[in-house]
Amino acid sequence: MSEPTSEFCAAYACPLIGVYGAGGKWYCCCHRNADASRNDAITLAINSHRDLADKAVLLRRTNGEFFELENQLVELTRDAGTQRSMAAASVIGPTHAPQHYSESEK
Ligand SMILES: [Zn+2]
Repeated sequence: MSEPTSEFCAAYACPLIGVYGAGGKWYCCCHRNADASRNDAITLAINSHRDLADKAVLLRRTNGEFFELENQLVELTRDAGTQRSMAAASVIGPTHAPQHYSESEK
């Protein structure tokens, strides 16, 4: 079995490369210090800046100047999940998840 996503951040659906080890998993610059309850919100924020994320991944792979770009992403995602903590509590659970969240899709 191949693991095409093994180089990526352990947070679900995160497009960034995992470079910071924690508890046997690898996380990106945005997820590494985040509370697990905020992971999805952070991933969403990263994906809304997908152009920056793609560039950061490319720079990581080519040993480019990724630091500034990743700092930017950290800033952009810093508040993700925190200001919506009230709403997050009432988010529908897995049993009511819409079909497009199905894991069988991949
Ligand atoms: Zn991540």
